[in-house]
Amino acid sequence: VKSGREELDVVVLGAGTAGLAAAKAASAEGARVVVVDHGPLGTFCARLGCMPSKVLLQSTRELSRARRLGRLGVALSMPPTLDWRAVRSRKKELVAEFVASVVQVTTTSEAFSLILGAAEFVDRTTLRAGDRLLTAKRWIIATGSSPVRPPVDGLDAVADCTLTSDQIFDLPSIPSSIAVIGGGGVGVELGQFLARAGARVHLLTNDDPIAGLGPGPLQDALRAPLERELTIHLRARIASVKRHGDGVALVVEGEAEVRVARILLAAGRRPNIDALGLSRIGVRVEKGVPVHDEFLRTTNASVFVAGDAAGAPAILHAATIQGRTAGRNATRDHDLSKPALDPALRVVFSDPIVATVGLDPNQATRAGHPICVVSRPWAEQGKARIMGETAGLAQLVVDRETRKVLGCQLVGPHGDLLIHLASYAIHFGATIEDLLALHHYHPTLAEMFPSLARCAVRELDGVVCLESEVAAVGGMQ
Ligand SMILES: Cc1cc2nc3c(=O)[nH]c(=O)nc-3n(C[C@H](O)[C@H](O)[C@H](O)COP(=O)(O)OP(=O)(O)OC[C@H]3O[C@@H](n4cnc5c(N)ncnc54)[C@H](O)[C@@H]3O)c2cc1C
Repeated sequence: VKSGREELDVVVLGAGTAGLAAAKAASAEGARVVVVDHGPLGTFCARLGCMPSKVLLQSTRELSRARRLGRLGVALSMPPTLDWRAVRSRKKELVAEFVASVVQVTTTSEAFSLILGAAEFVDRTTLRAGDRLLTAKRWIIATGSSPVRPPVDGLDAVADCTLTSDQIFDLPSIPSSIAVIGGGGVGVELGQFLARAGARVHLLTNDDPIAGLGPGPLQDALRAPLERELTIHLRARIASVKRHGDGVALVVEGEAEVRVARILLAAGRRPNIDALGLSRIGVRVEKGVPVHDEFLRTTNASVFVAGDAAGAPAILHAATIQGRTAGRNATRDHDLSKPALDPALRVVFSDPIVATVGLDPNQATRAGHPICVVSRPWAEQGKARIMGETAGLAQLVVDRETRKVLGCQLVGPHGDLLIHLASYAIHFGATIEDLLALHHYHPTLAEMFPSLARCAVRELDGVVCLESEVAAVGGMQ
């Protein structure tokens, strides 16, 4: 791209996961594409999101497992401890590798040209990209998101004691105590990590689901093991925050003050759109999110939005799918497509892992399905007992008439892997009879699926199903 005003087919704002997917998709349709990013390059996922957080969690997961090895008859001569400096440098090395491979693709791709610079619309037809002015037929906003600062009285005055997830990964040392504000996926994952790394952790949640789970047996199945490691304050109303010694005190309605060294803000994220001048191109914003239709088209039909910039669900595979869809849609006037985000798949890498796919019972009922809901505890499952990983519950939502699997909710071991089996079942329209007919090697955690299917048959037909006898060895019928 040369300097001066140049008419392009598609300009993508942001070289993150969504932006790169959009650029490649638009280019594959024959469009001339430019991507603008102010840096740092390498995607949020690789630099400060999915990857570094999972590297840290892996270390504390192994630490926790090592501490429980005695139950399997494995004695360690010394109690295992966490070497934070070693964990941090492993994280640094791995992240550097992940980022380098994305930067390589971003800077050498033949699918698009890259302009390094901040993007801002100057009028309805022109974008300033660093020191260049660009015009394009279509624009795609893929500028990601930033942590929300909850509107708590006194929070700004103790800014030196507050952290966001961005700062956790390179802490010089683990704080002695920390209050995590927000019980979503990020709050639960990082709260448990900090507790295992040695901090005294208070997790303060509002009325939102904890790690995506509303009140009920599944949430209980997560909270019970979590509460052995950290203190959870449910429906906490934080009236104010004030300085207390070197740390802070949170004044919570109806509770004793929560006194901690640091606060981690994990109360959600909002699209990075404030600096884009969206009002100059007629893109309406509501509650901090660019208003868009099911084709990811904003209130200016030439402007699309994808990834975290589009608001929920703000997870990685959604950013990729939305980016791809926005990229394709930006190259055509008709036959626009919708991002194929169903069945909704979600994993929280807590221990036990929370993994959900498809419809939960409430969603299925609201969608008009007559449903049968069955669940089993992992404590009764053979392989889970062998592994000594018995915390949690598995739940299946089935349509009573079609007998198809509509959804699955797992709290338990290897949920991140197992949930994909349920996802495939939903995608291919599998019935509970299909789950019973398929082979499941014994003993494996995957046997949970025929077990749940047997429960559903019993519930729907009132008969005991004797399929897959081997599962009985694990004590599960
Ligand atoms: C701690 C944490 C852990 C997570 N873990 C997971 C996980 O395990 N699994 C999962 O699915 N999701 C996870 N997520 C969410 C996931 O990381 C995000 O949904 C995803 O990375 C968003 O991608 P994106 O393309 O929308 O944004 P980004 O990758 O942030 O891309 C936005 C790009 O826009 C650029 N930009 C911004 N503003 C401008 C501007 N004005 N001008 C030019 N360029 C600009 C930025 O430099 C950036 O390169 C996690 C999030 C957090 C916070």
